Amino acid sequence: MKIAFIGLGNMGGPMALNLRKAGHALSAFDLSAETCKKLAAEGVTIAASAADAVAGAEVVISMLPASQHVESLYFGSEGEPGLLERIEPGTLVIDSSTIAAATSRKLAQAGAKRGVAVIDAPVSGGTGGAIAGTLTFMVGGAPADLERARPVLEKMGANIFHAGDAGAGQTAKICNNMLLGILMIGTSEAIALGVANGLDPKVLSEIMRRSSGGNWALEKYNPLPGVMENAPASKGYAGGFGTDLMLKDLGLAQENAAAVRAATPLGGLARNLYAAHSLAGHGALDFSSVIKLVQKAA
Ligand code: NAD
Repeated sequence: MKIAFIGLGNMGGPMALNLRKAGHALSAFDLSAETCKKLAAEGVTIAASAADAVAGAEVVISMLPASQHVESLYFGSEGEPGLLERIEPGTLVIDSSTIAAATSRKLAQAGAKRGVAVIDAPVSGGTGGAIAGTLTFMVGGAPADLERARPVLEKMGANIFHAGDAGAGQTAKICNNMLLGILMIGTSEAIALGVANGLDPKVLSEIMRRSSGGNWALEKYNPLPGVMENAPASKGYAGGFGTDLMLKDLGLAQENAAAVRAATPLGGLARNLYAAHSLAGHGALDFSSVIKLVQKAA
């Protein structure tokens, strides 16, 4: 299958590589020349522009940071035409970025007018899941379009859920990430408390992992450096899932909560804590660096 892949960052890069390894003809593009160079070195064909990448593609996948990037890619900006105009009718668009559900719905409606099927398919599983091809996809859109996408999604993920109509994948994703944001702070607090009392963080983490406090952060993503060799914490909080991306997701959750008058007190507090952490200059670090807020200075 001929696939265009736009956005080759921490997640998109390894996802694109898995599609190439599965034998798909891939044409990829990212605004960052450095990122393109890295992927080209791994054998991915890089197009000169997003418009060139989608020429003749049967499936277009995008993995961009936020709503505004997806809007400007597909609808255009500053007089530049949007990609939607360049995509052939009959093509399937899979947007895996985590963005506002309203933007996903707008894209699906605009696509339908041109005969282009669009699904929102945000992911969970972190960069480790993207590399291993074990991501969870949360899909919003028509069931028939999900079935068209399934063989492609299966090369990048292990779990594929249909959440509902266009935008529903995004709603599921922000519920999940609100929970993740909260539990990373809770895990950080518990570890910092134990360390302040002289406990060995590796021993404490293992005790909690196998007890009733066990969670994804303790399983795969310990926030304290040195506890887990492969976690971003042990690599200077580089790569992974940026604090500013988590802040974006918690903001989306709060906007959504306001719209439906839901009570999300811990989600609101978590958004404020990540915002303070970002303001302190840590926005580009992996979100598990939020432990710095509660950790005793070295
Ligand atoms: P990233 O910042 O590492 O990568 C995004 C890439 O998009 C960058 O390389 C950037 O240059 C590129 N880009 C932006 N606008 C573009 C455009 N118009 N055309 C082409 N390229 C463009 O971000 P990421 O960590 O890969 O995250 C991508 C999305 O996935 C976000 O919505 C994020 O919330 C979500 N997500 C991330 C993780 C994670 O662990 N990193 C996990 C699940 C979901």
